[in-house]
Amino acid sequence: MKDSFEIAVFNGDGIGPEITRPTVDILTRLAKAGGYGLRFKDVPAGAAHYAQTGESLPEASMAAARAADAILLSAMGLPSVRYPDGTEISPQIDLRKALTLFAGVRPVRIFPGQKTPLNLPEGKEVDFVLIRESTEGLFHTQGRGEVSENEARETLLITRDISEKLFRFAFGLARERKDAGRGPGRVTCVDKANVFRAFAFFRALFDAEAANHPDLASDHAYVDATALWFVLKPWDFDVLVTENMFGDILSDLGAGLMGGLGVAPSADIGADHAVFQPCHGSAPDIAGQGRANPMAMILSAAMMLDWLGLRHDNRSLVADGTRLREAVEAVIRRGEVLTSDLGGTAGTEEAASAVLQELGL
Ligand code: ATP
Repeated sequence: MKDSFEIAVFNGDGIGPEITRPTVDILTRLAKAGGYGLRFKDVPAGAAHYAQTGESLPEASMAAARAADAILLSAMGLPSVRYPDGTEISPQIDLRKALTLFAGVRPVRIFPGQKTPLNLPEGKEVDFVLIRESTEGLFHTQGRGEVSENEARETLLITRDISEKLFRFAFGLARERKDAGRGPGRVTCVDKANVFRAFAFFRALFDAEAANHPDLASDHAYVDATALWFVLKPWDFDVLVTENMFGDILSDLGAGLMGGLGVAPSADIGADHAVFQPCHGSAPDIAGQGRANPMAMILSAAMMLDWLGLRHDNRSLVADGTRLREAVEAVIRRGEVLTSDLGGTAGTEEAASAVLQELGL
């Protein structure tokens, strides 16, 4: 059993370093108490790095990310720093493509006491996972779309290879959640198969994978209806799997239901590598003020522990992943130490300290 892991850390831009520091501190203390090793290696990349050096994702950083057991990434990009063609610096998207991180995992969790724009019926909790394919779909021609005077074109690509891996991952996750008592074991394919042939292909591949899992349930939903159900009955979902652009939009809707980007974690997972990062961006409007919410980053770190533990059969890491998530939930539920995006007055360090206190570390 492996019990020592190297983590590549992208501190990133804007609030990135502010939320990374306390997160790495929490992980370091958890590892010390849990008897496993986490070695953190800082790797430079991002908009500020590009402004200084002309490189957004240096070769050496890419190599360090490839060599690490897992990648922890805060937020990268600044609206004020752009490539000559006007697009923003987003090494996180380059990483997804280079490391074939096809499964964008976006948990949506709302428990009693959590701020949400929903009116949750008595006794209802929301706990589902949206999986966004993250390497193809409508992002296939990203940066290469054809634009002429009278026309613009982007191409949506769905491949058998990536879709099969994606659906296998989705059913695997549904099984893990079922075994952990967190879901009924159901996967929903979100598509637009009634209009586009590419989505009928996507759905047929989903059905073929579903047939390999007679112990799990499966169904389909159109993306427009899914957006409606996110608001009307989100407690009905377990695992949803969808195309890149649909997933991009639905994951922000999911973050909104959770009360904002400050509490929305994510993971981008492939066959050999994984990046863990909050759903939010670098929030330049509040950078340097010490008031960014670190919870999304800390919850992403909890997902990293869970993934490393399951992958390397190390139960201590899996247990600490759950402990860390539950500690964040307890702090939010209590509501005494909240950052301003959640209606409180606490700063980043204070909010992270409340999590440490909850963990007894
Ligand atoms: P990107 O396109 O890079 O994802 P974005 O344009 O969606 O970024 P964000 O940087 O995520 O924008 O910020 C959107 C809003 O949410 C901003 O007002 C920002 O201050 C706020 N916000 C984002 N993350 C946090 C956080 N961790 N704590 C508090 N507020 C946040």
